[in-house]
Amino acid sequence: MDRYAVFGHPVRHSLSPQIHTAFAAQTGQALTYQAIEAPLDGFAATLRAFIADGGRGGNVTVPFKEEAFRLADRCDELARQAQAVNTLRVEPDGGLSGFNTDGIGLLRDLTQNLGVELRDRRVLLLGAGGAAAGVIGPLLAAGVAELVLANRTAARAATLAARFAGQGPIRTAPLEAPGEAFDLVLNATAAGLGGQAPAVPAAAFGPHTLAYDLVYGAAAAAFLALARAAGARACHDGLGMLVEQAAEAFWLWRGVRPATAPVIAALRGAA
Ligand code: NAP
Repeated sequence: MDRYAVFGHPVRHSLSPQIHTAFAAQTGQALTYQAIEAPLDGFAATLRAFIADGGRGGNVTVPFKEEAFRLADRCDELARQAQAVNTLRVEPDGGLSGFNTDGIGLLRDLTQNLGVELRDRRVLLLGAGGAAAGVIGPLLAAGVAELVLANRTAARAATLAARFAGQGPIRTAPLEAPGEAFDLVLNATAAGLGGQAPAVPAAAFGPHTLAYDLVYGAAAAAFLALARAAGARACHDGLGMLVEQAAEAFWLWRGVRPATAPVIAALRGAA
């Protein structure tokens, strides 16, 4: 059986094993997928041992995405832009290819599952970490009217925006005053993991705003409650993005595209 895994720290609450096991059953692919918690200073060694033991590829989550980018022998354009890798594939020559499927996952969930039109829309992106870096390129490529980046640590947003300046209308704004009523407000901060919402004002939301948190379940509750109270039209968490980025990884490994809707529905049902 071909072996795959998700590497993170912590990782035991990851839904990825469930998602990829469902994809494999649905498409008749013979593979196993496990969650591996690597020591904070031991990701490279853990990955090497996994590959030596027959590992064919893996997903990478917090806090190892930047290290995975440096470890990969070659990376696709989206990973290069993000300087972060969330999917690794062991090639027949033993080389390690790196990909970033987060942006594709977010865009598929927004446009295909939720029916959101991105072209000419004003988008506010909260956060400037690895998740934000992974979604900026695809959002700009989708033709948004403007992408405003706001982060608690303003300097980090400025650095990230400068990296993408040649690719479309991106600018930064203070988190506490990002501008008026955006069409789409995306929370790519980790604030929800501590039960908090980022300090974004109600004025950023209006009756036409769709609010979307990249985290899912209980961790998305504080931001989505803030958005709802501020009058947002619709509020969604990032479960669909999680399944869509996984589907893209599955396709990169196996050359087969699983159906995502039944897996999203099953996970929602179990939540
Ligand atoms: P990261 O690199 O550690 O960045 C964390 C970001 O959150 C930074 O911008 C940080 O701001 C901000 N932040 C943390 N606590 C905050 C608070 N209390 N108030 C305001 N801002 C706060 O993490 P990441 O890799 O970008 O991941 C962010 C989240 O996205 C994670 O929770 C992750 O699970 C989620 N994610 C979901 C998917 C999916 O498929 N659904 C995919 C990727 C990531 P500072 O710069 O000021 O520290």
